[in-house]
Amino acid sequence: MSIFTDTMLEWYASHKRELPWRDTSDPYIIWISEIILQQTRVEQGRDYFLRFVGRFPDARTLADASDDEVMTYWQGLGYYSRARNLLAAARAMNGTFPSTYQGVLALPGVGEYTAAAICSFAYGMPYAVVDGNVYRVLARYFGIDTPIDTIPGKRLFAALADEMLDRLHPALYNQAIMDFGATQCVPRSPTCATCPLADSCAALASGRVASLPVKRHRTKTTDRYLYYLYVRAGTYTFIHKRTADDIWKGLFELPLIEATSPLSPDEFLAHPSLQAMFAPGERRELRLVCQGVKHLLSHRVLHADLYEVTLPEDTASFSSFLKIRREALGEYAVPRLVQLLVEAIPPDKSVGDR
Ligand code: SF4
Repeated sequence: MSIFTDTMLEWYASHKRELPWRDTSDPYIIWISEIILQQTRVEQGRDYFLRFVGRFPDARTLADASDDEVMTYWQGLGYYSRARNLLAAARAMNGTFPSTYQGVLALPGVGEYTAAAICSFAYGMPYAVVDGNVYRVLARYFGIDTPIDTIPGKRLFAALADEMLDRLHPALYNQAIMDFGATQCVPRSPTCATCPLADSCAALASGRVASLPVKRHRTKTTDRYLYYLYVRAGTYTFIHKRTADDIWKGLFELPLIEATSPLSPDEFLAHPSLQAMFAPGERRELRLVCQGVKHLLSHRVLHADLYEVTLPEDTASFSSFLKIRREALGEYAVPRLVQLLVEAIPPDKSVGDR
């Protein structure tokens, strides 16, 4: 198995969430929990689940109930088509839950994700779940910027999820990656500092945690917080080329830490992605050059700070960046925002820049 898969299982052994639909292999119970959770947060869904299965403990009881009664047990959860589909499916299965993936997938209201969850949790079948948590964890860990809401993206992530699946323990593995995404690698401010995958996480190494996964059909305006670092390593500095399917693809920029919410200077200095840029034990005294520079792009508001740091010319830090002569920085195509920040850097007569 891969490091990724091994780590998921190890992490799950000590971080598993205690949920009332866990530790059962009853496909009916798992089905009800998955349908409730389709549009509902776990905390809100828990009580509804307990009430629902308390009154309708099996498919036969549910099939025999009236539409009105089922709807009253669903009241408050919203998306009532889910309850109607449950009832129609319970009546169609005539007391016997389907025992094949195709049979489960054919139930009204059941898509590929739900079928994979039911079949792996209930029957131990080797089907990998791919939900929002899984997209996020895989996109970040493997550094994939293919948009998850496109056909190529869906295919790519489905294949990768299948490749990572522990075929001997599909239920454990699926629950592990879902819990990992729900509690560790969360959408905003994931806890990378304590993450067991931090050493091998591509997004963390490249400062792209906040920008992955990528969605093509993003419409609302988002704020992005960019923290750039200008390195004076003797006559050299460091840059890198943006290659992700994101703003400024193909342009160069200074080393960057990006966040979805503002970072205080202390938070920035302690940021794991920043720490990862420096060689162990290297002295790093950062100085704030400018702060809160606002830059507008379509659908995005960028807020940028610039720090500078002085290191020895032969520094071992920033080893994954392009090392260039500082006076040559102007020869590289950089975004307008980076150009404005560079213009704010105090002149350094010793290398003749600016
Ligand atoms: S290091 Fe951070 S981004 Fe990478 S997998 Fe762990 S929590 Fe997610």
